[in-house]
Amino acid sequence: MNNFKYKLANFFQGRYGVDELYKFLLIVFIIIWILNMIFRNPFLYLLWILVCVVMIYRLISKDVYKRQKENIKYLEIRDKLKGKIKLQKRKWKDRKTYIYRKCPNCKVEIRLPKKKGKHICTCPNCKRDFNVRCR
Ligand SMILES: [Zn+2]
Repeated sequence: MNNFKYKLANFFQGRYGVDELYKFLLIVFIIIWILNMIFRNPFLYLLWILVCVVMIYRLISKDVYKRQKENIKYLEIRDKLKGKIKLQKRKWKDRKTYIYRKCPNCKVEIRLPKKKGKHICTCPNCKRDFNVRCR
């Protein structure tokens, strides 16, 4: 038994292991598994196996640098999406009192008080003026 433990510990020495991308893939894996139980689709089954293979490959991979780069890329995409969702929620919450406009110069989204008519607005980011029309 001790020999087995030693071999197992030795096997996982220097392996990449679990990260945020792995956790995300695990969720995808479970969702596909449930969908496949409902729909019994060969495409879903193949996708399920593919996700499983990728998960195991990443888990036992010894190329830590490449796996970390993949994880960083995933985190960047996830954070970008989270930011967009957060902004949409905020826009919906503020829809009666504020309007959101993109600055034509620097493309930053600016929140402005909702006042009817034409206004001149100064971008807080690039300090340039632009026209805003509110209906
Ligand atoms: Zn600007």
